[in-house]
Amino acid sequence: MPVNVVAYHQLKKELDEQGVSLLAVSKKKPVEDIEELYQLGHRDFAENYVQELVEKQPQLPSDIRWHFIGHLQRNKVKYIAPFCASIQGVDSPSLLQEINKQAQKCGRILDVMLQVHIATEETKFGLDQEEVLDLLQQAVHYPSIRIIGLMGMASFTENTEQIKAEFTALRSIFDRCNSLRADSPLRILSMGMSSDYPIAISCGSNMVRVGSLLFGARP
Ligand SMILES: *Cc1c(COP(=O)(O)O)cnc(C)c1O
Repeated sequence: MPVNVVAYHQLKKELDEQGVSLLAVSKKKPVEDIEELYQLGHRDFAENYVQELVEKQPQLPSDIRWHFIGHLQRNKVKYIAPFCASIQGVDSPSLLQEINKQAQKCGRILDVMLQVHIATEETKFGLDQEEVLDLLQQAVHYPSIRIIGLMGMASFTENTEQIKAEFTALRSIFDRCNSLRADSPLRILSMGMSSDYPIAISCGSNMVRVGSLLFGARP
């Protein structure tokens, strides 16, 4: 299925006007689709699966910024640390430590984001506020990573009030973190996907992760 070029231009315009950045979520989509969006000038792409990302990356232009947004296993950090622009979805101290170690090996400073659990569903990964604050403390000892923001996913529901409440909760954790680190504030609040990004932006998101709206439904 081809990229929805009209939807891309509309979305890009809408987001640019609001100062919101766009990660194009290309998981399970062929490199041809990514190439098509690249030709339109897009550079920030996000993937969920290490093996898929590692296969696609060498086939595509080297100035693409790859963001990892899936659940990352510690033993796989080494495969993406050499080239990833950011790792979002960090949800444990041991993962943070491993990212620091692998980034150091590559002589890089890697941007990471912490994943916060806001949905009511059991299946979604993430930290609570206390764990976020603890990890921010620990990160002080990790010179090869830079925590740049928080990310979260709302429940998969039609109930927009509930989605709004969940995004608002993440926004308040974000504000709480920044009230404690006035000298080096977190810059990015990544929330919102194809179905709920307008709500997320109304709750303060400045980065959305959009897949199906641009690339069509996934298999
Ligand atoms: C798949 C995915 C998205 C994009 O979802 P769409 O509904 O296709 O826009 C965003 N964020 C994460 C973490 C994802 O796994």
